[in-house]
Amino acid sequence: MVTTAPGMQTAPQLPNHKVKIKKLGQRSCNEKDAKGKFCGGHLKRWFYMTDVLEQECGDVKKAWGPDAEVYRCEHCKTLYLPNPDESQTSVAGEGQTSVFGLTIPGKER
Ligand SMILES: [Zn+2]
Repeated sequence: MVTTAPGMQTAPQLPNHKVKIKKLGQRSCNEKDAKGKFCGGHLKRWFYMTDVLEQECGDVKKAWGPDAEVYRCEHCKTLYLPNPDESQTSVAGEGQTSVFGLTIPGKER
């Protein structure tokens, strides 16, 4: 069952990967399995340009270029994009700011 909560940030999906956006300070996967149990896998920076399997697939590079900041759950392989707020405020604590709807200019190059 997929429900989209209002205000939730959604990431562009790739054909061969499930993509989510990290919450502020998120370190572990919050993807639920079929039984509704949290995955809890560790999110690690994923260097897809050196990933042999990904080079065959090529999805990520096509969508985001060769050096995008991407994290991947080591358990279920869900991809996570960094939260735009996180890169702005760096280490400002765990405070949950409710500024959804506020558009922060991304690093678009
Ligand atoms: Zn996971």
